[in-house]
Parts: sequence; C-alpha cells; structure tokens
Amino acid sequence: MPRPVLLTVGAGQAAVAAVRTLRRRGYDGRVVMLADEPHPPYQRPPLSKEYLRGDADLDDLSILDPGWCAENDVELRLGDRVTSIDTLGRRVELAGGGWYGADLMLLATGARARRLAGVGGGGGRVVHLRSLDDADRLRALLPGAGRLAVIGAGLIGSEVAASARELGVEVTCLEVAELPMLGQLGARMAEAYAGLHRENGVDLRCGRRVGAVTEHPGGVTVSTDAGEVEADLLVVAVGAEPRDELARAAGLALDPVHGGVAVDAECRTSVEGIFAAGDIASRLDPRTGRRHRGEHVDNANRQGAAVARAVLGQPAADQDPPWFWSDQYELALQFVGKPRPDAEVVVRGSVAERDFTAFYLADGRVHAAFAVDRGGDVPAARELITRAVPVSEAALADEDTDLFDLLETVDA
Ligand SMILES: Cc1cc2nc3c(=O)[nH]c(=O)nc-3n(C[C@H](O)[C@H](O)[C@H](O)COP(=O)(O)OP(=O)(O)OC[C@H]3O[C@@H](n4cnc5c(N)ncnc54)[C@H](O)[C@@H]3O)c2cc1C
Repeated sequence: MPRPVLLTVGAGQAAVAAVRTLRRRGYDGRVVMLADEPHPPYQRPPLSKEYLRGDADLDDLSILDPGWCAENDVELRLGDRVTSIDTLGRRVELAGGGWYGADLMLLATGARARRLAGVGGGGGRVVHLRSLDDADRLRALLPGAGRLAVIGAGLIGSEVAASARELGVEVTCLEVAELPMLGQLGARMAEAYAGLHRENGVDLRCGRRVGAVTEHPGGVTVSTDAGEVEADLLVVAVGAEPRDELARAAGLALDPVHGGVAVDAECRTSVEGIFAAGDIASRLDPRTGRRHRGEHVDNANRQGAAVARAVLGQPAADQDPPWFWSDQYELALQFVGKPRPDAEVVVRGSVAERDFTAFYLADGRVHAAFAVDRGGDVPAARELITRAVPVSEAALADEDTDLFDLLETVDA
C-alpha cells in the first residue's frame, strides 16, 4: 500500500519544526517540503542582527540541512512555489507546472514585509527585510552607507538600527507612535527602550508620519509631517502581513481581526486534513476563547510541533504565553505574555544599569514580563503567567526572593 503523503507549503521555521517532530516521534508517511526560496531552510532572527553585521555566515543560519533530510527520508524541494490549492482534489499546483497530491497538508508560508504605498520604486536604495536575499542586499549596502534612515522602530527596525550603529553608520529612525514598542511595553518601559537607542547614537524621532519617499542619485529623501530626512539608504520596517493568499483563494476560513488563517488549538484549518502554522496562523486558545497570531520563532516552533502531534493523534500540549527575544547592543531582551493597558509595572533590578525584569501586574497577578539581560528570570515569569499565581509587588521587586519560591507558596 502506498504510504500517505504529508506536504508542507513553505519550509521555514514552522514547517521544519513540524517535520522534525514528526520524524522524531516515528511518523512513517512520506514527507515532502515545497519551498519557494532557493536556499535550504534557515532561521530569520540573525538577518537583522549577527548576520547583518557580518558576525555570522550562512552555515550559522541553517535549521535543516540536506544531509538530515536524506537520513530522515524527507524530500526537500527548493525553488518550488505553490500557486494554488485544490482542497477537493487534495493537491497543490506548482509554478513550474503540474500538480502535487497529498493526504495531509501544512500551510506554513509565513509573512511578508509590509510595504508603504509608493515606497521602493526600484532606485535600489530602499530595503524591506524578510528573506536571506533581502539581508544579503542590505549587508552589501550598509557598510558603504554613511547615513541610514529606518522607518519603524518595532523589533526589526530597532535591530537594524542597533546593528547599523555597531557598524558605525549614522542612523535616523522614524516612528509614528509617541514611543517605540509602546503597545508591547507600555509607556514606562517604552521610554527606557527609546533611551537605549538614543544613548547608542540613534536619532530616534517619534510621532513622525512619513509622507513621500524620493530616491535620487545622491541618496533618498524621506518627507515627514515634521521635515525631511536625507539618507544614503532606507530600511522600511513597518510590520509584516501573513502570506494567506493561497488559503484565501482555496476558501479556507480566515481570521478577520488578526489576519491569517483561522486554526484550532491543534492548528487544524476549516478544511479537514489541512493544517496551518507559524506567522500565517491565527490560533484559538480554548481556555480564553480568543485567537492569537504570533510572529515569533517560539510561536512557529510550538505550532509546528502541535501539527505533528495532531497528525500522530497525540494530545495537544498546553498553550504557554507568547515569548520572544531580541538582541540589541549586546543586550538580550526577552518578552513574555502581553501587557494589559491597565497594568502596574514592578521592576526587579536596575533600569539604569540595564539589568532588570519588568513585571506587568493586573488583579495581583503577573500577565507579562520584559527582561533585559535577565534570562534567569524568564522561566519563572512564564510559570507565574501561565498559572496566574497571586503575587505581591514587594516580593517580585525583592532581589532576595527567589521567583520560583513564589510558585511554591501557591503549591503548598
Ligand atoms: C529580520 C527578522 C528578524 C527576526 N527576529 C526574530 C527574533 O529575534 N525573535 C523571534 O522570535 N522572531 C524573530 N523573527 C520572526 C521569525 O523569524 C518568524 O516568526 C518565523 O520565521 C516564522 O516562521 P514561519 O515558518 O511561519 O515562516 P517563515 O520562516 O517565513 O517561512 C515561510 C516560508 O514559506 C515560503 N513560502 C511562502 N509562500 C510559499 C509558496 N506559495 N510556495 C512555497 N513556499 C512558500 C517562504 O518563502 C518562506 O521561506 C524575525 C523575522 C525577521 C524577518
């Protein structure tokens, strides 16, 4: 009897996590991965950090090498873009011609960098950073650029700004909000975040709305509602959009609020036998009844693993709070959970010395944390959030209190 075929559309972080988990747990069907990019699967976080600075090379980015695929009977097809999905016939159409049939499918097409209308008209001085090819272009241009302008001070914009400063490039960063990362951090910590960049020499201009962008032989002019910025190079980092057009055309249910493909806790879409995971997926949390679409590695890894468990008929793991990291100016920043707007911020450690964890409390419970060079606090913070443990502000702030003891108090 022919073996069932599991096909992934995309071979990025989520698809790789699914395939690795499947094989680790003994899945013996055929596995085929279709990747539109020509490069073997790679991780994206270094593209704005060590790879951009030239401190890492291509080999350091690999997350699935062809040798592993051969040993584990995984057919990795590079440069094979899927152009449509036939849900009834359970097959996908390839850009190079022909169809590929599958018993099970995983849509893991990720996201694309959001564009600003009319920006990046082919003058070669505007970069959107999402892929290895984008990073190679930026890496080649950056050392020769005396002045870099960045639109957007979210994570990718901030990381590019930090990397460029480390390379000695002058950086002007334009942010439309009153503070960078305001929604993720709240006002107090967003101030600290802005301070980090300004102290490292970034000309961070908040509350600036960008109008026209003009490329000319001498550089690029960015017009804002408060004057113009002249630069040699411009990076546009204004967020990402899920690549859900295949799913949309195939009639899969989408999430109108967060965008992306609507999936249940096990990453099943509205069509049986088709899963979605990673940046493209908006996953239901059965405990809260709410959906969440994450754009982080941990989210992609967890969802990929959830797909593998669902395929194998194994129970879904608990949903942990969102967690992601960023490296900027040799500081390791970690974010757990989602701060509520009414949160109290309790600081453990020293903001001035950039060695602290900020806990976000509401109703006497921690629901988010922002750790700066405090990786040791993160596991306990995740537990405090997941288990909604009641805690006192004094105990959290007290460096002599072991955070794990706060969990024990409840267990006792
Ligand atoms: C510059 C940068 C820095 C980042 N830094 C961090 C960080 O510090 N921490 C963190 O947690 N996260 C970070 N992220 C986010 C993280 O990389 C993503 O959340 C993660 O890669 C999502 O995995 P995914 O599998 O959903 O998508 P991806 O990894 O994007 O993979 C999707 C793949 O599918 C392919 N594809 C799309 N359409 C098709 C098609 N029709 N046919 C075939 N293939 C297709 C795409 O080309 C891509 O290769 C960063 C992202 C970027 C761009």
